Amino acid sequence: MSTFDIIVLGSGPGGYVTAIRASQLGFKTAIIEKESLGGVCLNWGCIPTKALLKSAQVFEYLKHADDYGIKVDNVDKDFDAVVKRSRGVADGMSKGVQFLMKKNKIEVIKGYGTLKPGKKISVKAEDGSVTEYSANNIIIATGARSRELPSLPQDGKKIIGYREAMTLDKQPKKMIVVGSGAIGIEFAYFYNSMGTEVTVVEYLPNIVPVEDEDVSKQLERSFKKAGVKIMTSAEVTSVDTSGDGVKATVKTAKGEQILEADIVLSAVGIKTNIENIGLEDVGIATDRDKILVNDFYQTNIPGYYAIGDVTPGQALAHVASAEGIICVEKLADMHVEPLDYGNIPGCTYCSPEIASVGLTEKQAKEKGLDIKVGKFPFSASGKAKASGASDGFVKVIFDAKYGEWLGCHMIGAGVTDMIAEAVLGRKLETTGHEVLKAVHPHPTMSEAVMEAVAAAYDEVIHL
Ligand SMILES: Cc1cc2nc3c(=O)[nH]c(=O)nc-3n(C[C@H](O)[C@H](O)[C@H](O)COP(=O)(O)OP(=O)(O)OC[C@H]3O[C@@H](n4cnc5c(N)ncnc54)[C@H](O)[C@@H]3O)c2cc1C
Repeated sequence: MSTFDIIVLGSGPGGYVTAIRASQLGFKTAIIEKESLGGVCLNWGCIPTKALLKSAQVFEYLKHADDYGIKVDNVDKDFDAVVKRSRGVADGMSKGVQFLMKKNKIEVIKGYGTLKPGKKISVKAEDGSVTEYSANNIIIATGARSRELPSLPQDGKKIIGYREAMTLDKQPKKMIVVGSGAIGIEFAYFYNSMGTEVTVVEYLPNIVPVEDEDVSKQLERSFKKAGVKIMTSAEVTSVDTSGDGVKATVKTAKGEQILEADIVLSAVGIKTNIENIGLEDVGIATDRDKILVNDFYQTNIPGYYAIGDVTPGQALAHVASAEGIICVEKLADMHVEPLDYGNIPGCTYCSPEIASVGLTEKQAKEKGLDIKVGKFPFSASGKAKASGASDGFVKVIFDAKYGEWLGCHMIGAGVTDMIAEAVLGRKLETTGHEVLKAVHPHPTMSEAVMEAVAAAYDEVIHL
């Protein structure tokens, strides 16, 4: 039986990053994967969606080229080519992970892994053969899949999940998107830009419900302006797929409504891959669909660890990677701090983009904190005006007494690249006045961060 220091089960951004760091630290490492290397993120999540969204953005630019004084006739899209480009980008990224595994001397084991007691894993290969491996430490990183609701049973054709949504062979004329978290909103933006008539149905009172309310309201305005229909405080209770298209029954405060469309995209969250991997056999504890771990990702059974979407933190690629690195650095006896889940940035890559970190204004108030809030609209930013991208704002929240940067919420062009300033500032316990004294380049969208902080302290210049 082959024996390793560390075996990682699953090669998403949790698993493959963990394996690389483990190898860097001198551990003899193997990784087990049943599909393509890179997991959901590279193959079915972060990367292929951003490729689709880039095509949508290029199409939008061309459709509005006139606004920039550029004449472009007969602008059209080739839906097949857009999907093909996205798949090509994903395949390229997966091959990149293959290269990284080789470079870091990590053994890649293809097949379906099942945990066994005594720190063993049996792997069933495609040809049906089963091989057993053992390790000093096993790290579970099996990720998650699209969550199914009883009212929305996914058939992959008329009621689809995210995988089908990024590989449709025909562009739907009308689409209902159920759920307005990051995944639902990104697909709503993509399909609307491509010319599909999109209705978003959200159960809660606001779209992107985890974001600051001002951000939700701004996105709703921008989406409505772009032609997306939005129904909030609304629930799809059933979908009739018996005819040519679909008929969705939507319950609202005003009563029931029937929406007709070609297709329904169910984007109501994720379900972790914790079944049929041997957790019960080994005795690993779970709670509410997640594997329970301590601050350094050890499960209740010594020698078995878990990271990424299968554990309770935010289901994001950068969280999965960070958790894996902490886990193996701790195994290498390095001095490591637990991850600060309060300082994790969240991004949605529609247009305008959304990025946020820390407390929303409502959360800060609910905590009884005395706060200073500053907001700077991109309509007052020279760079945003020059770029024709003046929708949105930066909003910052500081503790009034100690100057702690409690939260930062952005909506606008390119803000997903700007949020790192707030993450780093908060990590270094930067105060508002320090941000103000850090000169930001002109003209950039990032000046809006400095101006929003200035607004919080009544020192704003350009408003
Ligand atoms: C449409 C979409 C867009 C997203 N966009 C973003 C984004 O922009 N930014 C962001 O941060 N996050 C995004 N996410 C979330 C992100 O993809 C996940 O948080 C991330 O992939 C989780 O990483 P992971 O390593 O925990 O698991 P996964 O990426 O799910 O990888 C798990 C891997 O384990 C393998 N596996 C499972 N069971 C077994 C088994 N028994 N044997 C062998 N292999 C197994 C699976 O095949 C898979 O490859 C998005 C998700 C979706 C669905």
